[in-house]
Amino acid sequence: MLFWKDKQNDKPAEKAAPEAAVTAEVAAPVEAEEAKSPESKKTIKIAVLTSGGDAPGMNAAVRAVVKSAHARQDVNVLVYGVDHGYNGLIEGKFTPMGLRAVSNTLQSGGTKLCTARCKAFETPEGVKQAADNCFNEGINGVVVIGGDGSFRGARDLTNAGIPCVGIPGTIDNDIGCSDYTIGYDTAMNTAMRMIDNLRDTAQSHDRCNIVEVMGRHAGYIALNTAIASGAFAALVPEKEADIDRDIIDRINFVQGTGKKHFIIVVAEGVGNIDEISRQIKEKTGRDTRTTILGHIQRGGSPSVRDRVAATQMGHRAVELLCSGNGGRVVAMKGEKVVDYEINEALQMKKDFPFDLLQVASDVSI
Ligand code: ADP
Repeated sequence: MLFWKDKQNDKPAEKAAPEAAVTAEVAAPVEAEEAKSPESKKTIKIAVLTSGGDAPGMNAAVRAVVKSAHARQDVNVLVYGVDHGYNGLIEGKFTPMGLRAVSNTLQSGGTKLCTARCKAFETPEGVKQAADNCFNEGINGVVVIGGDGSFRGARDLTNAGIPCVGIPGTIDNDIGCSDYTIGYDTAMNTAMRMIDNLRDTAQSHDRCNIVEVMGRHAGYIALNTAIASGAFAALVPEKEADIDRDIIDRINFVQGTGKKHFIIVVAEGVGNIDEISRQIKEKTGRDTRTTILGHIQRGGSPSVRDRVAATQMGHRAVELLCSGNGGRVVAMKGEKVVDYEINEALQMKKDFPFDLLQVASDVSI
């Protein structure tokens, strides 16, 4: 019987006997003979960090990395958590994470490893410092959970000799290589619930509420929450709107049919909602209010979809590093987990669902 040392709590946890050998270039190949004997198994060290904007489900991804590492039977995998994204790498803050370090984290929002934006990491000196710290600690690979900015950092660190695997973690769903990003579903559900509340008061006062939702330069959250909350219009950065034609003329038309309250969902990438509000009030006579939902969309317990996607992607990241495949990004293609070479991933673009925008428009009146 082999025991896994839980370094966090200094308690051994039971680990199953090995079944198969896997070639792991990251940690140097595991010899077939070595793999047969549990005592002589290769040990590899993986660091994990969260970077950029936080997203619900990041903890689930970290948990999946720790648990999947523990489950490896071909190699011993030690996982180290890194505080505050790339800042922690530059400062050399590696904390051993045993199984109990991720207890009770699956359902929690935010990121327990904390996240940050790290300007120093955008310089060659910063990347070199981080790589040197990884070499000194014996780190064989890093899992980076974040957005495309974080993946650029992961590419640089890979080029500096530390193989990285990126996992898309952002509420904005704006990663070109992945149909889905961790946190997106939870954020949309949060926005939808908030807009439902706004609808109550819009209806009570016969008002037009203009709501700004997050998404950075992308309109995915806006489009989907507009449909899910029965909004009168969705404004997204991917399609320039004509406020007079697309909103004001339509409000004036349907006011004649008795409709008195309106919800307009605007993606943050579109611009100033106060100006839109002013125009609507002036040209329709309807009382207006603006609401910026803001960071409330970033928090909260992750949805089923986010927990499952985070778990699948964390598991794949460990598989990749243990089989010598650094410099990659894990992604979702439909319901399937896939992975791409990191430079290729950074070049990829995905199509905005303009057909869904048409659906939103057709059911909005
Ligand atoms: P996100 O990962 O959510 O897109 P950012 O774009 O803010 O968020 O990037 C997060 C961090 O990734 C930055 O603070 C920086 O440390 C690192 N990063 C971003 N762009 C680069 C780059 N071009 N080269 C190296 N590191 C980068």
